[in-house]
Amino acid sequence: MIKLNIDIPNNMINRDVGNNIPHTYKDGRCCRYCKNPLPDHTNKSREFCEKRVFSDGRTMDCKSLYWTPERRQESKIEKQQQQICSSFKELVDYGKTEMTWEEFCFKGFSLKMAKQTYPSTEKKIVAIFEGGHLLIDPNTYNIKIVKQ
Ligand SMILES: [Zn+2]
Repeated sequence: MIKLNIDIPNNMINRDVGNNIPHTYKDGRCCRYCKNPLPDHTNKSREFCEKRVFSDGRTMDCKSLYWTPERRQESKIEKQQQQICSSFKELVDYGKTEMTWEEFCFKGFSLKMAKQTYPSTEKKIVAIFEGGHLLIDPNTYNIKIVKQ
């Protein structure tokens, strides 16, 4: 084993500041589960209280209490929908007016993700997305992109 001989400057060592510094709550962040305020010195990406172990052995972990399987699934779908929305907006902003079925699939679009789908009077499939809609020809699979 190679021993690395590096002198780490004193101020770069991560010290456990623990309870030595008074907690401030100026950021106004709070736990997503129990809504308790999160101290400013905690990592900015922290969304939950730290896991606590009580003297009687009980533990309280807001993060695992919050992320129930249902919530996980919901969040996954929400993320997918946001992705679809921004992909659609990109297409529209780019001035694209048509796309192929391959592109449609490649971009992760799915008719299930549309806000609404229904057949048009010309027997095309209309799929409503945020910011516009798609007109899909069910015979040729040609897709027209229509801005709202
Ligand atoms: Zn909490």
